[in-house]
Amino acid sequence: MRTFMLRKSMLYGCSGALLGAVYAFLAVYVFNPAVGGSLEKVHLLLAPFMLGTLAYLLGRHAEVLERAKRRFSDLTHQAITERHWEVGFEDDYIPTCWEVKKCEKSDCPVYGRRHLRCWLVAGTFCRGEVQGHFAQKLGSCSKCEIYQTAMAHDPVAEIGENFNNLMWVLREKEDMLSNAHHELKGQYSELEQLHKIAKEMADTDGLTGLRNHGHFQRHLKKEIDRASRYGRILSLVMIDLDNFKLVNDQFGHQKGDTVLHQVGQLLSAGIRDIDYAARYGGEEFAIIMPEVSGAEAVEAADRLRRQIEGLYKQVDLPEYQTAASFGVADSPACATDAGSLIAAADGALLFAKRQGRNRVAYFRDLSTTELNNDDLDKLNNRLGGAGFKTIQVLAAAVDARDDYPEKTRQQLSRFAAAMAGKLDFKQDQVEALDLAIRLHDIGKIGVPSKVLKKKEKLLPEELALLRRHPQMGKQILQEAAQIRDLVAAVLYHHERWDGKGYPDGLSGAQIPLMARMVGIIDAYRAMRSDRPYRKAALTEEEAIAELRKGSGGQFDPSLVEIFIQSIREEAGKNLRRAI
Ligand code: GH3
Ligand code: MG
Ligand code: MG
Repeated sequence: MRTFMLRKSMLYGCSGALLGAVYAFLAVYVFNPAVGGSLEKVHLLLAPFMLGTLAYLLGRHAEVLERAKRRFSDLTHQAITERHWEVGFEDDYIPTCWEVKKCEKSDCPVYGRRHLRCWLVAGTFCRGEVQGHFAQKLGSCSKCEIYQTAMAHDPVAEIGENFNNLMWVLREKEDMLSNAHHELKGQYSELEQLHKIAKEMADTDGLTGLRNHGHFQRHLKKEIDRASRYGRILSLVMIDLDNFKLVNDQFGHQKGDTVLHQVGQLLSAGIRDIDYAARYGGEEFAIIMPEVSGAEAVEAADRLRRQIEGLYKQVDLPEYQTAASFGVADSPACATDAGSLIAAADGALLFAKRQGRNRVAYFRDLSTTELNNDDLDKLNNRLGGAGFKTIQVLAAAVDARDDYPEKTRQQLSRFAAAMAGKLDFKQDQVEALDLAIRLHDIGKIGVPSKVLKKKEKLLPEELALLRRHPQMGKQILQEAAQIRDLVAAVLYHHERWDGKGYPDGLSGAQIPLMARMVGIIDAYRAMRSDRPYRKAALTEEEAIAELRKGSGGQFDPSLVEIFIQSIREEAGKNLRRAI
């Protein structure tokens, strides 16, 4: 650009010198009388002078335009390709407001900023007058006195100023956009933060600070999936505080809340980093222990149990007021899906409760009969149908061998179905009850028939042999299929309500419901049929009276009444049929 300017100046210098030489030659010719010149011929001198001046001015103008064109082209290119608005058309001859108004520079707050003209800035004033609101507010400088003065008769300066103004507006817009972008980014990360907090709150239990039920379910599913994919083990511990209602009732709910909070703290502090504790609900907690076997989990659970036992001091309660029962189950040994693993741990937990609370029970140590019906349903569903078929074949074989008629068997089935109806049994429980009635004595296969058929009083060793038939029955059926209601009923059908029965001396509600039902139905059948040790069978009314006599001792009193109702209804139906 500089060499170009230099070349241009030299060109103008040379053309000026040439013009001077021509002009000197003409002056000699015009005014020299020797060559016929005179003062009147001055127009001959003026014409070339004017022509020369005009040519010079045109050349100069063309150069200014050329320079402006190049400058605009460069600036626009830069602005477009680099999105850079910091460009400006420099024109040192543009007067500034303080020059036009003849005031002090310092009166114009923006005088130090190179491309910024005061008329672009709202509120800028000179000599106490607001000057610059046009470009900003109205988008045009043309009405500004200073602008008009500055741009008068200079179209290039005007184009340059308009270009600068345009860049200024673009710069402002860009700044605005970038500020908005930053603000949005800030708001976004704030929202993200809030979302995180909300999610954390939704997954956390407020009272204990542990994860809540929903999070636990999702987490357990994930952990089980991971463990089964990589062939790893995992244990689940379910915990239920013992007699917690009493704490609330005697010491108030606030004390209850404190205990729950402290148990939460104790559990999260007492487990390994990779373990996971949650409040399952109410006063129930759950711990997932990845890579831990059932036996190890039992040890860990017992440690926690002892800590809870000692918690009473910390929460200022009398001794023995803080305790919990624990149920442990592991995967894949006990179950391979989340629902079944929870059911298994829950089953063990209920067993721990039934055994007297404040203890740990391990699902695999329990006999199949020690679980509740919900677990049994789940297990039944998980077992294939093959075992079930074997059992039905067994039942048919026993039916064929039994010494009581098919009619009696059908009648007992109807009583059982009627009772099941009153107790809201599900279809598979009704079926299990029916099988239990037919199969409850299957263990007698292992008792010598001379003992079974003996009319005299049995010797103690014979009696012991006979009394083993429930366990043998359990073993036989377990081999075929683990239908737990059925196995439970077979194993415990000789238990008594008062706890004097066998094999385990269970009492009351400890005896599985189906076993209590089988006990009553089988006793009724025995009363109604001839037995080696009793000559004649009892009548229906005699048998009912006998059952009532045993109610509360041998039999569950409420079940006796339900059974009697069932007999009566059945008799009513028969009567109606006969009429
Ligand atoms: P068990 O040994 O058989 O488990 O007896 P329990 O009294 O612990 O069991 P039950 O299910 O009868 O009572 C549980 C009690 O837990 C009843 C309920 O009021 C109390 N509970 C559940 N959630 C909370 C809670 O958030 N705060 C308080 N203070 N009590 C709770
Ligand atoms: Mg509970
Ligand atoms: Mg409880």
